[in-house]
Amino acid sequence: MKIVVCIKQVPDTTDIKVDPDTGALKRETAGTVMNPFDMYAVEEGLRLREKLGGTVTVLTMGPPMAKEMLKVTIGMGVDEAVLISDKKLAGSDTWATAYALSKACEKAGFDLLIFGKQAVDGDTAHVGPSTATYLKIPSLTWVKKIRESSDTEITVEKMMEDGVDVVKTKLPAAITVVKEINEPRLESLKGKMRAKKYEPAVWSLEDIGGDESMVGLKNSPTRVAKSWSATRQPGKAEMLSGENEQIADTLFAKIKELGFIK
Ligand SMILES: Cc1cc2nc3c(=O)[nH]c(=O)nc-3n(C[C@H](O)[C@H](O)[C@H](O)COP(=O)(O)OP(=O)(O)OC[C@H]3O[C@@H](n4cnc5c(N)ncnc54)[C@H](O)[C@@H]3O)c2cc1C
Repeated sequence: MKIVVCIKQVPDTTDIKVDPDTGALKRETAGTVMNPFDMYAVEEGLRLREKLGGTVTVLTMGPPMAKEMLKVTIGMGVDEAVLISDKKLAGSDTWATAYALSKACEKAGFDLLIFGKQAVDGDTAHVGPSTATYLKIPSLTWVKKIRESSDTEITVEKMMEDGVDVVKTKLPAAITVVKEINEPRLESLKGKMRAKKYEPAVWSLEDIGGDESMVGLKNSPTRVAKSWSATRQPGKAEMLSGENEQIADTLFAKIKELGFIK
């Protein structure tokens, strides 16, 4: 089985500063680590390879310094690691990131894509399902266990608010995983020695066959209107009910009413 795991580098502190003018995270002021959920994604990829054979490739889209994080995954035992890095990608939002990752996944080739549940900085949980949407493959989110797996299909347990859903899908497919799925291994001594000499491949936008008009800040559909630290107001929560589309319309109207969208 050809497994591709997408991982993201995130700031290693929870009190990262926010630029007061733009509301953007000041990423350069903090150290960086692998997004914690992505450790579980890597581990699950390695376990599937141990069971079914094949290879595990790790992809990240980020700045050149993300190579160090990729080396950690080599130490854990992945076969190859690729950095997607290009100035044209700077400022990409989740939709543009997903587009670039989908092109890179196509180039790498895959039967199964594994993502973390969400990144602890951006926190949207968009990138896994959005990448799957670009690739026109099924995506199963919040996976806490892979019950059965073969080269052609997988059956998983998805964590839900009120229990567990058991879902089966044919491959190729994408999953996003939660911490309950496994206990990530540490880097082995042999792995660390390989990682020391290992040089991750670097792919540009051109290398992945990406279209410049789909990526970068000016081509990203998201606009950050305002960022601030949230405060809790007990008793102020309102639960929306109805069909998904109806809930989305109500939510959109409320956000507009609050003045965040013109
Ligand atoms: C207008 C705008 C501009 C932005 N500009 C930048 C910028 O210049 N630099 C920057 O770092 N961020 C930037 N961001 C934030 C960036 O869009 C998100 O951090 C990123 O797309 C991932 O979204 P998320 O953190 O919500 O990840 P989630 O969707 O919560 O992540 C889910 C999973 O997707 C995978 N994943 C997420 N991101 C990546 C990645 N980059 N590579 C591989 N796998 C990944 C991981 O498996 C992760 O666990 C910008 C956001 C906006 C709205």
